[in-house]
Amino acid sequence: MVLMQVIDNKRVLSSVITDWKEAGLKIGFVPTMGALHEGHLALVRKARTENDRVIVSIFVNPTQFNNPDDLKNYPRTLDSDLKKIEPIGADLVFAPSVGEMYPPGEDPEVPEINLGSLDQVMEASHRPGHFKGVMQVVYKLFKMVRPDSAYFGEKDFQQLAVIREMTKQINLPVAIIGCPTVRESNGLAMSSRNALLSVEQRIEAAKISRALFYVRDNWITSSPDELFQHAIAGIEKNGIMKVEYISIADAQTLEPVINRNGTNSIRVFAAVRLGSVRLIDNVEILNNNA
Ligand code: AMP
Repeated sequence: MVLMQVIDNKRVLSSVITDWKEAGLKIGFVPTMGALHEGHLALVRKARTENDRVIVSIFVNPTQFNNPDDLKNYPRTLDSDLKKIEPIGADLVFAPSVGEMYPPGEDPEVPEINLGSLDQVMEASHRPGHFKGVMQVVYKLFKMVRPDSAYFGEKDFQQLAVIREMTKQINLPVAIIGCPTVRESNGLAMSSRNALLSVEQRIEAAKISRALFYVRDNWITSSPDELFQHAIAGIEKNGIMKVEYISIADAQTLEPVINRNGTNSIRVFAAVRLGSVRLIDNVEILNNNA
């Protein structure tokens, strides 16, 4: 059995990738910021079934954080992450330092993409610069890893849409594969930031997905406005959590749904503050494109 390689140097990475490419091997790539949980591992498992070689990157990307405390507090658990990935059969983990990814004086290489509405709503408007940083790091990683397929979670649905759009606009030869959100048994979407919550807070946080599932389950019989109000009240009941936004949106443009009968695919999205932690989630309401 070949053991999993752990590499922090992009030149070493590049020579491994070149060997794999020359051998005609299909490369699957899972970019992450570490503090891995079952949501990440589901992406790695899917990549494992669809490729000859699987690479996972672990890099807490400073350029996508708009809040310095969030960056500082972000959980970093490399050793236990490696122990979780190895049994799944990943071939290589790329875990570079910030200096390796962004050498001082190097062109920051942010791709020029017109994201249209994707860059105006929800996470884009509440986290200025966030998607610029996401595109920057994913573009850099794609150039280093040269994957055939890259795997992203629907948990970050807007991020998935942004990466699909970037890949399309600059014609990158990478298939972007979206994977369903993995949840705790109480419905809470798994997230590395959940590690920052107490046991009580995790129970409280389950109200977020409960509210989103309520919207989905009552979509036919209630008006969007009623559902919207119900969701906010459900999440903010007893005053522990604060809704930053809830949006019932077209799953393509991510703009709020105005004509519910004229929209083929709809999802409900939420961002919520619980103490100092910000949590996001989304649920499919309907998808007539599937
Ligand atoms: P992160 O480490 O948070 O940057 O996430 C790395 C990848 O894992 C992204 O594509 C996320 O969308 C995905 N991911 C995070 N949480 C989940 C989850 N609960 N279910 C499925 N995918 C997830």
